[in-house]
Amino acid sequence: MLIKPSEVILYRGSDQGGMGLVHAGARCTANLVSSFVQQGHPDSIYPNLYLNSLYRCYVLEELEQGKVKRPPFYSTDFFKIIKEAIEDWGDSIISISTKGWQKRILERSITHRREEGSGIIETIMTKQETRMSQANWYNIWMLRVKRGLPQSHKSWLLKYSEGLHVNNEMLHKIGKRLAPTCDQCSLPDSRTHVFRCGFNKQVTDGFQRLLVTTTGEDVDDDDLALIDLNIPTSLQLPFLFIMVEVGCHLQASRNKNQPINIQKMNAEIAASSKAFLLTKNYGFAHEMTMFWLSSLFAGRKEVVRTSTTNSDSMPVAWSPTQP
Ligand SMILES: [Zn+2]
Repeated sequence: MLIKPSEVILYRGSDQGGMGLVHAGARCTANLVSSFVQQGHPDSIYPNLYLNSLYRCYVLEELEQGKVKRPPFYSTDFFKIIKEAIEDWGDSIISISTKGWQKRILERSITHRREEGSGIIETIMTKQETRMSQANWYNIWMLRVKRGLPQSHKSWLLKYSEGLHVNNEMLHKIGKRLAPTCDQCSLPDSRTHVFRCGFNKQVTDGFQRLLVTTTGEDVDDDDLALIDLNIPTSLQLPFLFIMVEVGCHLQASRNKNQPINIQKMNAEIAASSKAFLLTKNYGFAHEMTMFWLSSLFAGRKEVVRTSTTNSDSMPVAWSPTQP
């Protein structure tokens, strides 16, 4: 693998743009803290005298430090974690579950940072989030995990918007390619170029029309690269579905250096989107997908039929009857 997602993205929850993976270190420490507190806390219902002495000495500091020897598997940071929890929760830390401890441990140094003294917790930003601080990250995170999207599509969107898909500009930057340009059209091959490249003009034009139809504006490269798109809630699912499907076809076409057969692509996307009909709530996404495929990706002839003035004008955004 050429590039890895930042550690922060691996362990953040999916509601914060992360992959929600289990951090082994945090999980182990959480188990250790939880069993120590359950047995050493003064209100414990499973009291252990030795652990209680350690608790009084190193957490509550009622006993003189050194009165009880600190075992090496309980580090000073281990006791700091418990003291910080007491600052926030007081005596009721005994009711914190192992999962709760795990969250606290992740949020004090791995995915978030805890300010000494004030105890204020702030999210650790990725390089991209710091660089593109003007973006609406909440919007981006929510679109990446849009309810109803297949897992494979969510994963594609996360990789795309975190810049983890390979393109020539990236290969050039890390010294794996001489030129940062597209093999098919010689323009700079940036993250968004796949959706703008003239090699598959019929498809990329269709996608641009879809972008304008759903967002009501010309989307610039920064917003498209991050998927920071203002799309009405009811259109988000079918839009993201088509974006990923079209993106995959475009990537495959580049790799094979063979232009897309748009009829074949439409048929394949239509077949995949039928899966929405098997769900209880997302049947509208199939209807919308079919409508956009026939009106925006059907080639110039059909597009002219749906517009009144010129071939580039958009059909009016269709409002689905279901939410
Ligand atoms: Zn190109």
